[in-house]
Amino acid sequence: MKKILLVACLAAGSLYAQKSDISAKNVQKHISYLASDELKGRGTGTKEEKMSADYIAKYFKEIGLQPKGTNGYEQPFKANLDTVHVLDARNVVGFLDNGADRTIVIGAHYDHLGEGYQRGSLIPDSKGKIHNGADDNASGVAGVLELARHFAKNKVKEKHNFLFICFSAEELGLLGSKYYANNPTIDLSTVNLMLNFDMIGRFDPNKAITVGGWGTSPSWGQVIPPVLERDKMAFKIDSAGAGASDHTSFYVKKIPVLFFFTGVHGDYHKPSDDIELINFEGEAKILNSVVGIVNAVDKLPNRLEYRETAMPMARNMSFKVTMGLLLDYSFNGPGIKVDGVSKNRPGEAAGIKGGDLILRLDKYTLNTIYDYMGALGKFEKGQTVEAEVQRGADKLTLPVTFK
Ligand SMILES: [Zn+2]
Repeated sequence: MKKILLVACLAAGSLYAQKSDISAKNVQKHISYLASDELKGRGTGTKEEKMSADYIAKYFKEIGLQPKGTNGYEQPFKANLDTVHVLDARNVVGFLDNGADRTIVIGAHYDHLGEGYQRGSLIPDSKGKIHNGADDNASGVAGVLELARHFAKNKVKEKHNFLFICFSAEELGLLGSKYYANNPTIDLSTVNLMLNFDMIGRFDPNKAITVGGWGTSPSWGQVIPPVLERDKMAFKIDSAGAGASDHTSFYVKKIPVLFFFTGVHGDYHKPSDDIELINFEGEAKILNSVVGIVNAVDKLPNRLEYRETAMPMARNMSFKVTMGLLLDYSFNGPGIKVDGVSKNRPGEAAGIKGGDLILRLDKYTLNTIYDYMGALGKFEKGQTVEAEVQRGADKLTLPVTFK
């Protein structure tokens, strides 16, 4: 009896395994190459960044994706390291055409901190040390490649096309995804969902994974829990559509987003973010659940509804007033750069627009996010202050009323 039961369980287990073709072995293969010392941490603009892009493009070709860059699979762009240094970078873009009128974008950044000469390292003496970035974000790229293979080879014609993108220059301020969102190679109005992986390699079965972007569509509350419960995956949610990774660039274009993340750790942005610490089986389990979520979205009768979410600035601050601005954290001044403006908030009411530089608020000169936060701490509800704004060549003075 015991034996028979055991056999029955094994059969059910393997049946389940067959249902998903997501492979921990493939995940391991991709991360092994991308996070190897040979690729020297994939710094933006380096020879090894190009080698990584070639690897991704070759794989896209192998599985039959259409090239959707501007130069084959590549979309070259200029990445400003600072006000003086400009790097040649490239996104890698492949398209699975199902003849549908909606598209799901699945992306991850493939650049990392290189040998510690660019900014971002969290060790004091970073120069000359390879920052392999196995979790950040070879793991995410492996996720994109494995999902691309799954959807290209599953012999199912979904009701969505798929655009797979690996972004560069994320570590320098989401530059690759911003460039793509401003220079898209497909019609962005057809995009129903952007799904981003950034650090999905450290799955701990005793901890929850984070699903970000929860507030960007009212459908997530219905679509996602049944899949994650089916897979016995503990999860926590983050409502914000804007955050510290590439989904932000699509969220500000009013596209619903999802972001998967296994959490920060002590090796974050250090040379010790190595392949030995990656949970390949765990990543495959996450990817299998993501396939379930994508299939559930594919079966919805209508397009996802987009919702604006609270801005992370406003959420984390205890100020009496906020302006409802999404800021470009990578901007080096002078002024602070506005990426987006929330509806019905003081910033929008004052006429501030995405792309504006705010040089001054009341008597406070702004050159960093901290200047801005410091200034906000000085104001009260009901107060009106002057904002000095640079818009292109024009300098404007706009009254901001806090409510
Ligand atoms: Zn990252």
